[in-house]
Amino acid sequence: MYIMKRTKIIDLLRGELVGQQVLVKGWVRTRRGNKAVSFVALNDGSIIHNLQIVLDLAKFSPEELTLITTGASLSVVGTLVASQGQGQTVELQAERVEVLGAADPTTYPLQKKGHSLEFLREIAHLRPRTNTFGAIYRMRHHMAMAIHSFFHERGFFYVHTPLITASDAEGAGQMFQVTTLDLENLPRTEEGAVDYKEDFFARPTSLTVSGQLEGEMAAMALGAIYTFGPTFRAENSNTPRHLAEFWMIEPEVAFLEIEENMDLAEDFIKYCVQWALDHCMEDLTFLSEHYDKELIERLRFVLAQPFKRMTYTEGIEILEAAVAAGHKFEFPIYWGADMASEHERYLVEEHFQRPVIVTDYPKEIKSFYMKLNEDGKTVRGMDVLFPKIGEIIGGSEREADYDKLLQRAQEVGVPEKDIWWYLDSRRYGTAPHSGFGLGFERLLLFVTGMANIRDVIPFPRTPRSAEF
Ligand code: ATP
Ligand code: MN
Repeated sequence: MYIMKRTKIIDLLRGELVGQQVLVKGWVRTRRGNKAVSFVALNDGSIIHNLQIVLDLAKFSPEELTLITTGASLSVVGTLVASQGQGQTVELQAERVEVLGAADPTTYPLQKKGHSLEFLREIAHLRPRTNTFGAIYRMRHHMAMAIHSFFHERGFFYVHTPLITASDAEGAGQMFQVTTLDLENLPRTEEGAVDYKEDFFARPTSLTVSGQLEGEMAAMALGAIYTFGPTFRAENSNTPRHLAEFWMIEPEVAFLEIEENMDLAEDFIKYCVQWALDHCMEDLTFLSEHYDKELIERLRFVLAQPFKRMTYTEGIEILEAAVAAGHKFEFPIYWGADMASEHERYLVEEHFQRPVIVTDYPKEIKSFYMKLNEDGKTVRGMDVLFPKIGEIIGGSEREADYDKLLQRAQEVGVPEKDIWWYLDSRRYGTAPHSGFGLGFERLLLFVTGMANIRDVIPFPRTPRSAEF
């Protein structure tokens, strides 16, 4: 028997197969028509557009036809023809239809168009079948490809850093503990404390908040590396920009100082944005029409502008001047304060009207591993701030001097016994080096124009929410 090969809808819509018999499989988005003929919009995920299937009702059994409802999956053999109707260039005149899986119309939740994003979050297992989430899933894929491509082209090596870590050097108090101890019946030491000697790793462990420290070890051998993996933060911040589980890209480069680190960050984001424009135009057009009219214009604008570079101190001066001129912020702003998202967005959206890279932050609000400036007060950190998002990248030139690094670790209370191996990289063949972390979902917020980070990851993890 001759078995026909399935053709994807993305290939059928190119129109080159008009006149041929083809096999197509997908899910019914809508069905409309009259007593004689039905028009089924079929989608197979390969592209946002549907293929119109024309069913001459006289040719099919009524039992089969009743199963062709929204959500059902079909296998259809037919002839591809130029379409007479409006809205599509080709359509499929069905000859054989098989319902692979029916979708009971009395319970299938995606009946009508225009469900709210809030409702769709409650059915995260089915929302990939909407145009919106199909577009977002495809764009996630394309952005991941862009990232690997960018670094690969530049000779960076992809390094896999561990997800389970014994150091809480980065985020004391905001980590998810990993344990196999029986929480109902904890082993105790003689002093009454939890006896971690009994735990799986014979010590307390957590899910990582960053692959940077291990990434640095690789950079000090391979020269230029990047990580791209999940990270976990138990911070209880229920904002549209924070997830408890998110993906981070962390390049780390030996012999790179802060200026070049900024160049790298700017080139990197621009490359990703350009990639979206080059590879995702159909999805971008849909998202722009439905969620964010200025999306494509904003992407082009970011590409055209050099990012504004300034110090934290200059930023604070601008923000203080704004307050003096009557601008109201929710949180107080003064030299020494951590900028909140509202401050970052003011600099980007109102003051400079383009992306901003802020450097030289007070050491007190940044991590111990950032290189101390000559002033003894500020460190060579850099945050890249973006419209609608605020911080999209956080990075720094790292402290390469053993004594200074150890001193900063002690000042902020990171125990030497936890980072002895990290300190070793400054004892043996230390060199200037820099890196940064890009939140993958923050990048996706920017390129998709979505407003809530829960809508750019397939199955979001946020406080009190891990259903799917
Ligand atoms: P924020 O101030 O926005 O909470 P952060 O300063 O804690 O971020 P970093 O530790 O610098 O973040 O992490 C590097 C990047 O990871 C950030 O620039 C951001 O893009 C992303 N990121 C950080 N926390 C989260 C989170 N909870 N959910 C999603 N992305 C995050
Ligand atoms: Mn940061």
